[in-house]
Formats: sequence, structure tokens, C-alpha cells
Amino acid sequence: DADEKANANLVEKYIVENDVMIFSKSWCPYCTKVKDALRSAKIEFYSIELDKMGRDLSLFKLLIYIFIYYLAEGDQIQNALINKTEQDTVPNIFIKQQHIGGCDKTLEALKSGRVATLLNPPESEKKHKKVENDDLDSYDYDLIVIGGGSGGLACSKEARSFEKKVCVLDFVKPTPIGTTWGLGGTCVNVGCIPKKLMHQASLIGEYVHDSVDYGWSQLDQARQHSWSKMIESIQQYIRSLNFKYRVDLRSKGVTYENSYGEFLSPHRLKLTDKKGKTKEITGEKIVVAVGGRPKYPDIEGDQQYGITSDDLFSLKYDPGKTIVVGASYVALECAGFLHGIGREVQIFVRSILLRGFDQQMASKIGDYMSTIGMKFHYQRIPTRLECLEEGKPGKLRLHYRQTLESGEIEESYEDCNTVLFAIGREACTNELNLDKIGIEVNKANGFKIKTKEEQSIDIPWLYAIGDCIDEQTMPPGQPLELTPVAIQAGQLLAKRMFSNSTIKMDYYNVPTTVFTPIEYGAIGYSEEDALSKFGEDNIEIFHSEFVPLEWSICHHRDQVKTMSYCKLIVDKNTDRVIGFHVLSPNAGEITQGYALGMRLGATKNDFDMTIGIHPTCAENLTTLSVTKSSGDSAAQEGC
Ligand code: FAD
Repeated sequence: DADEKANANLVEKYIVENDVMIFSKSWCPYCTKVKDALRSAKIEFYSIELDKMGRDLSLFKLLIYIFIYYLAEGDQIQNALINKTEQDTVPNIFIKQQHIGGCDKTLEALKSGRVATLLNPPESEKKHKKVENDDLDSYDYDLIVIGGGSGGLACSKEARSFEKKVCVLDFVKPTPIGTTWGLGGTCVNVGCIPKKLMHQASLIGEYVHDSVDYGWSQLDQARQHSWSKMIESIQQYIRSLNFKYRVDLRSKGVTYENSYGEFLSPHRLKLTDKKGKTKEITGEKIVVAVGGRPKYPDIEGDQQYGITSDDLFSLKYDPGKTIVVGASYVALECAGFLHGIGREVQIFVRSILLRGFDQQMASKIGDYMSTIGMKFHYQRIPTRLECLEEGKPGKLRLHYRQTLESGEIEESYEDCNTVLFAIGREACTNELNLDKIGIEVNKANGFKIKTKEEQSIDIPWLYAIGDCIDEQTMPPGQPLELTPVAIQAGQLLAKRMFSNSTIKMDYYNVPTTVFTPIEYGAIGYSEEDALSKFGEDNIEIFHSEFVPLEWSICHHRDQVKTMSYCKLIVDKNTDRVIGFHVLSPNAGEITQGYALGMRLGATKNDFDMTIGIHPTCAENLTTLSVTKSSGDSAAQEGC
């Protein structure tokens, strides 16, 4: 209503007019503390005492408030602040119009130098580069989103909820062997969804083995897997999702163009549909959400005979004996489920497994996968892919160079039916004409667009979200190319662009899971990153090996029974858990639950005081007492 709007405007006015703005209450010790800290740092600020507004004012001040701002009661201002920041406490602090938070966050920002940087930004960050503007009086759309994947769809629908005119473009360029798919981006078509379903297919194969010791007879003898049936079920489900997304856009009033977009000028895009028909549209704001695609190794025959994850999930024929090249999470997940459904799999690894993840956990995953029968070949680099026999699948020969333990280099080859390249991904920014409009990409980081808080560093009306961004506020070393990250960043960005929201994406403590045959869930710091950031003396690691109860009576699991493992990395000074790692069945479900605790700043004591659910794998994280530094065995005894 009108009052609410007036209060929101008043809050905006305070924030815009004052470099350091504190919404405070006169009796609050934290407000006093933060003001004292700013005074000692010789930083000027402006504060208003919400408990005194509209009540304790002198007649003169009251008249001025009535005259200028209606009668703004402190409580109403606080409500406007809650709407804007989702923070319901004081002090509530803004610096150079950026929301900092309360007392602790401001003191932290003072300590880290962030306050000083905000007040005196370095020359490079002061303003956006001057970019030739189109100088349009009006635009076809308030917002154009390039890319209808996880981030783009979320952003466009959220923007539409503010009554904005929104257009989303989505176009899939076929892979070298001609695979293509529908609306929804990587996650739905060639990522999370088919991957998790294939992972499930492989787990079911394991349960069939388990069934013998649980008293079922002959289930395991019927153990046969049909690739084409699995693909048919999964693809049918994906098509239903593609349809649902199209209907959803239409019912929400978002214009959907099944066309490839590229920039002609900063606000103008050229759209090309699959028949080659072109048209131009303009947008006041533009969000780039183009995601990424798998890389090829750039060797002879790679694109002609090899496939990537973009092809695998809809492959019309059984891949047969497969060589997976790479050690990314995509490589290990695909290798894992192919092995689980009974295909022979070999993995060619250039150097280490799961770069960027905790390396102790990565090597435990490698040990598990080797124990259940997958062959890893380290230091093997493919040099040429040759077709020996056409067919579906045909016969391929992968030539490689391998550095042997002796240091000698061996040139050899391995024959197989399918070669799957999973050596990393690159952002789809190459053909957007970004250089022509003054946007820089980071070539060293997969051609991603340089952003700060999802806004392009170069052009103020251009934003980017999801897998295609090189985001300055992301913590180093954490895997953040994830669907929920793209969705949340897209929704928050739309709110910031089109409402008064200042809430930013928090890239810290993002939980993730690698769906290898034994799942690995992680939140926060890896052991390596924690050691280098906090130092050995300041962290303690609690860990345990455990046997999942459901495996304990299964003889075919004998060799892997004790391979489940969890560890918590704890900051000794604050007792806060800064790293969470679990390798176990259902680690994805376990990790999601604990992510809330990590986000709320859980301490080791909080974990210890949490009552476990017995008997589960997750309960092991509530009873960790053995530290790594003690050197005691992490193996668990008894129940
Ligand atoms: P995308 O979803 O890739 O969408 C971008 C869209 O833009 C695509 O449809 C693309 O075709 C289109 N496009 C590109 N250029 C243009 C253009 N110029 N014009 C028009 N359209 C264009 N994440 C998880 O959270 N959990 C998982 O388990 C998981 N598993 C994965 C497994 C695999 C095999 C892969 C490859 C990824 C997985 N991911 C997972 C990652 C997740 O899929 C991505 O992080 C997420 O899809 C990124 O969303 P996005 O919106 O940034 O891009």
C-alpha cells in the first residue's frame, strides 16, 4: 500500500544519500559497538535510531519528518528494511548502497578491508568501461535472457513476476555426431537428471546382488540389463520435462524463442532459428546464461569417433567396452554407472582424480572404484582415435602416450567400442560476439564472463549467471557449476534488477555430491584448502571409517564394506565446522540435511549434541571423536 511504498522509498533515500548508513536502535549494544569501531577507524557514518523515530522527536524534527517523509515510524521503517534485506535485527548497515549486514558482518568487513575498498574502490573497479551505447529510446523487452537452462529459466520467470516484459532464447547446437535436445539446458537433458537415473540403474544392479544374502532367490540370475530400455524410459521422462518447461513459460507470459542469440550491439541481438531464419530484438537489460559444453582433446579423430556426456545419455546403441578419458566428476560418474550396469570400463587419467575436490576423498573414491573392478590408467594421454570397424557400436583404437613410473614414455593403444571424453567444459561464449561489445572473457578459466555479483565487469546492463561466469565473489577451489547455484543466482538477480532487493548470492558452503558408485558429499573447505587458509595449528580433523549396516550381511560387498568414511574439518579457535566430507551410500541425501547446519555456522559441539538416527550412515557425523592428529585408528568398532 501507499505507506509501505513510502517507507521503502525512505529507506532507499537514506541508503543512497549516505555512504555509510546505519539503521540502529538507541539501546542496542551491538549498534554502539559497530559505531565505536567505525569511529576508531575514522569512518564517517550516518545513523537513525528506529526506536526513537516518530515518537521521541522534538516538535521541530517531527514537523520536518511529517513534511518530507509522511510520518515514518521506526517500526514501519524496520519492516521496509526486512522486506529489502531479510534481516530483522539492528544494526542494519549499508556501505555505498551495498548491504553489509549486522554488527559481526560489518566488523568482519572492516577487518578484511572490504569497507575501505567499498569506500575507495581501486581505479579498475570504479566504473564500468565506457561502452558505445545503442542510445535507444525504447526496447522490445525489459529483459532478454540468453539460454534456457537452469539459471536462465529461473531468472526469466522471476523477472516476469515483477510484470516485466521478458524474452528467453534457447538453442542447442548439435554435437559433432548430431545429438541435440529440448528446452531446459544441461541439467535436464544431458546432466544431473539422466546422470542420476543411470546412477540409480547401476545401484539397482548392486541391490540385485545383495538380494541373495537377504533371502531372495534367483533374482541375481536374471541379472541382465537392456541399454535401449533404460534410454527409452529416461528420454521419455526428459521429453515430458521439456514440454512442462515450454508450457510453464507460456503460462507465465515469458516469450520463448527457440533461436541462437548473438550480439549485434550492446542492447541488440540477432536471433537465428534452426531453419536459418533471422530477426533482431532489443533489450534494456540482458542476462547471459549460456552454460557450457564438453571439451574435446583436439586429437585426430576425437570429434568424428568419440562421444561426450552430451551424447551418452541418449545414445541409441549399447556403448559396449568404453574408455572414459578424464578424471572430472562427470568422467567418474559416467564410468561408475557404465560399470554398474555391466559394461567394461577403463579410465585414462592425465594426473589426479577430481581436481579441486578434497584429495583424500578423491583417492578413496578411486580405491573404491578400482576395488569393484574398474581399471584406472594414470599418466595416459590420448594422441589419436582411429576407427577399426564402423558399427553401432563399432570398434575403435585409442592411441596414447603414457609416462611410466621409470620416467620412460610409452606409446601404445587400447581397443574398445566407445571412447567418452570427459576432460572438462568450456562456457558457450565464443560465438556470442562478446568482444564486439566490449565484454571480456577469462580464457584461462573456460572462456567465462568476468562478473561481480553476477553483473558484467564491463557493461552495467549486462549480467551473467550459472556455468558461464567467472564470478569474483566465489570462493576459490569449490565446485560451483551446479544447477541449484544457477537457479538461486538467477532468481536473486531478477529480484535485485526489478525490485528493491539487495540480497546477493552466497557462494560459500554450497553443498555438492559426486554420484560415483559410492557417493561423495561435501560442504565447505577441502582439507588442502583449510590447511593453506587456516594453517595446520588452527584446524582439527575428526574422522571415522564405518560399515553401512545394509552392507554388513552382503558377501559380495566384503571387499568394500569398510570403505565408507566421513570427516569434519574444524576451526580450533571457534569450534566451527568448516569442512564436511562423507563417502557412503546415499551421501547426497545425508549432505543436503547437514548443509543447513553448516549454513547456520554449526560448531563441532553442535554436531556432537545432535542426536543421531540409529542405525544410519548419517549418524556417524554426530559421534566423531578420533582426530587425525592423534594418529589413532579411524576404524569403528561395534554398533
Ligand atoms: P545450462 O543448463 O547449460 O543452460 C544453458 C542453455 O543455453 C543451453 O540450453 C544452451 O544450449 C543454451 N545456449 C547456449 N548458447 C546460446 C545462445 N547463444 N543462444 C541461445 N541459447 C544458447 N549439477 C548439479 O547440481 N547436480 C548434478 O548432479 C549435476 N550433474 C551433472 C552431470 C553432467 C554430466 C553435467 C554435464 C553437468 C551436471 N551438473 C550437475 C551441472 C549442471 O547441469 C549445470 O551446473 C547447470 O545446468 C548450469 O545451468 P546454466 O543455466 O548455467 O546452463
